[in-house]
Amino acid sequence: MRRSVEVGERAQSIVGELAVGSKMRRAMEMAREKGASCVFSVRPSEEFGFVFKSKRDFRDLLGMRYARPAVRLQDHCACGAVNSVGHSQVCSLGGFINQRHNEMAELWGINCKKVHRDVQVRPEPMLLPLEGEQDDFKYNTANTEDEARSDVRVRGFWGNRQDAFFDFRVFYPLAPSYCSKSLKSVYRLHSREKKRVYEERITRVDNGSFTPMVMSTAGGMGPEMDIALKGLAAAIAEKEGSEYSEVVSVLRARFSFAAARCALVCLRGSRTLFNNRGFRGHVGEFDAVGVRRQDLAVSAITLSEFERKAINTEIARASPIPIN
Ligand SMILES: [Zn+2]
Repeated sequence: MRRSVEVGERAQSIVGELAVGSKMRRAMEMAREKGASCVFSVRPSEEFGFVFKSKRDFRDLLGMRYARPAVRLQDHCACGAVNSVGHSQVCSLGGFINQRHNEMAELWGINCKKVHRDVQVRPEPMLLPLEGEQDDFKYNTANTEDEARSDVRVRGFWGNRQDAFFDFRVFYPLAPSYCSKSLKSVYRLHSREKKRVYEERITRVDNGSFTPMVMSTAGGMGPEMDIALKGLAAAIAEKEGSEYSEVVSVLRARFSFAAARCALVCLRGSRTLFNNRGFRGHVGEFDAVGVRRQDLAVSAITLSEFERKAINTEIARASPIPIN
């Protein structure tokens, strides 16, 4: 206990010495968040998926934790931008950012299903269509679309018969626009944004409740998600007759590991079919999406029909002029 207090104080003094708004200071803040150290401190377990078997994965995670540049990263992303750890976590090309968001929603749904019967994740739960109620909405950023959806719906989550709607957001705290703000206020910013979009519609039209589930890519959680997670852990512990402290730690670790896995996919995943072939030596030879058309046309000769189709799609994306 004394040692943990000492370590905490030392960490605090190190953070205090770092410049406000610096990447390192933010990285230290992130590393000290609840749940952000699970990946390194939890006992490895294959049963729970609490394990990273590849040495590169572990090194990448450590590097990301302390805002170090990644080793052997391609110079340029497939989108044309200069590649970096930061870019890999926010580049929407390849769909990894969407995948990250969906995985968190699914993980939440799976765990809610352990105690609640009526849980919906896919297809995403639709909100009731509006019939003029939008005229009285307070915020003009409120979602007024007919096809509006939330990420997860759980009936009776907050102990009543109401539908509880959850909407996820996973953000990268080291993005330059966030570095001048405190981590707390970045969580608040995202949560407020989500609430303005959904809360009024859901409470007034759907007679439900709305919880913004804001997470950082390092596994930290916003205050609303933290409360929801504790509530779910209490319900699971009661149903299974287990210790609350154990259930809540496992649940937190599950989200941390899922976030870490998604961060690795964003970092190392291939954003286009030919991104990792190593022929991106000189940027000038390539067009916007990083495909050298001549390379594709030549290699297409020896490929199967499926591969040929895939290549044609790539070529079509790379160039508005069709190539035969
Ligand atoms: Zn990119």
